[in-house]
Amino acid sequence: MFNAIVQSMLLSTALLGQQGPFQEPFPAHRVMGNLFYVGSKDIAVFLVATERGHVLINSGFETTVPLTALSVRKLGFKMTDVKYILASHAHSDHVAGHALLKKITGAKVLVMEGDDKVIASGGKGQYLYTKSRWKPCKVDKVLKDKDVVKIGSLKLIARKTPGHTPGCTTWTWPLKAGTKTHNVVIIGSPNVNPGYQLVNNKAYPKIAKDFAQTFKVLKGLKCELFLGAHGAYYGLDAKFPNLKKGKKNAFIDAAGYKKYVLFKEMAYLKTLKLQSR
Ligand SMILES: [Zn+2]
Repeated sequence: MFNAIVQSMLLSTALLGQQGPFQEPFPAHRVMGNLFYVGSKDIAVFLVATERGHVLINSGFETTVPLTALSVRKLGFKMTDVKYILASHAHSDHVAGHALLKKITGAKVLVMEGDDKVIASGGKGQYLYTKSRWKPCKVDKVLKDKDVVKIGSLKLIARKTPGHTPGCTTWTWPLKAGTKTHNVVIIGSPNVNPGYQLVNNKAYPKIAKDFAQTFKVLKGLKCELFLGAHGAYYGLDAKFPNLKKGKKNAFIDAAGYKKYVLFKEMAYLKTLKLQSR
């Protein structure tokens, strides 16, 4: 119970955009190949670098954007070379920094249908977090499930994994590292948050069906390189020391991915069962 309370406190702190432990710096690092971590502690922001320009997945809070900019420069890249800004889902801890990031980079913002209006309006229309607001950000293109974001030879596939938010997005693509190719999955979020109503939800009637669809999609994805919108999803704190010790495949974890998805599906089904009584 105590844990649940602390967790929901952390979550509401994060969602309201206040200072919290999530906003501390985290070392910028190469995940593998041309994929880099440029987020803060636990709030994952990924940079995919190409010779034709780069992609940033998530912006974090407005207050963490400077940390991301610092990480990008530390890795030897230019913020002005970022061409696209993508998102995991329209909650403040992943997209409140979009407007500032767009201003700094001049990049185009691409968002999955269902989350586009929330980002464009600066937080209006969210389920449950009705008071959470951030700077509105122009959305240049609205994506649909299986749309591909192309830049040079890079092709990032957007999978709609709704429920956590209506336009929650899981990003997947084959990543080349040396002579090998590893399939990346960056989970948008499979979480049924505290307070989420799966049954008779007037604000989000399809929520249970959407979560069911998400687990179907996630279970169908091939995943070797397991990542997510928060470091905690994929065990960043436990895996990062291995990377520092020189283990190049520190984030390769097909079994961990499968286990995580099944665990989250069980949690969803448990909540659904409890609320259906
Ligand atoms: Zn969220």
